[in-house]
Amino acid sequence: MKLLEQRIISDGKVLPGDVLKVNSFLNHQIDVKFVSQLGHEFHRLFADCGVNKILTIESSGVGIACLTAQFFDVPVVFAKKAKTSNISSDVYSASAHSYTHGNEYEAVVSKDFLLPSDKVLIIDDFLANGAALEALVSICEQAGAEIAGCGIVIEKQYQGGGDKLRARGIRVESLAKIRSMSDDGKIEFCE
Ligand code: 5GP
Repeated sequence: MKLLEQRIISDGKVLPGDVLKVNSFLNHQIDVKFVSQLGHEFHRLFADCGVNKILTIESSGVGIACLTAQFFDVPVVFAKKAKTSNISSDVYSASAHSYTHGNEYEAVVSKDFLLPSDKVLIIDDFLANGAALEALVSICEQAGAEIAGCGIVIEKQYQGGGDKLRARGIRVESLAKIRSMSDDGKIEFCE
């Protein structure tokens, strides 16, 4: 999506540790009109898939998921991040490694909000090594829900998480795919 690539070039900052900071429009301050356009694009991509629920993970995924859900007219469920291993039996949970914080966490969703009859679109802001998405996929599998696919705003393609998921037969659509990012701030996109 050219519009998104231009916005990343103009407003994004490359930080050490392969982190792209897009706090001015996506991760801290949210440009609602712009992120709605991203949601519209996710709807165009997945409109024919029978999606009846959007699943994401707190915190950055929530705004994007809600602005996407308005086009599908479906509810959003977000996985909560829990530190404790004290997980109750009325939730689905999967452990993951946090890319930005470096710690382990449990992604947790109440069994009340994910059903075997659901057809789920998973939404997130970034895809790097794939840990966050794999946790959400695992939660859908535990619930017996069908996965329509994953919609990602920014995939850092060179980190391999997206291709691992695609190799499992999961449809992953990323609106911007970064081929390389250098410490001096140069960002190259995939064709
Ligand atoms: P993964 O689990 O695929 O390794 O990383 C994805 C998660 O880590 C996303 O949910 C996102 O919150 C965070 N993340 C990964 N890479 C970046 C990045 O370059 N910038 C920002 N802001 N977040 C990232």
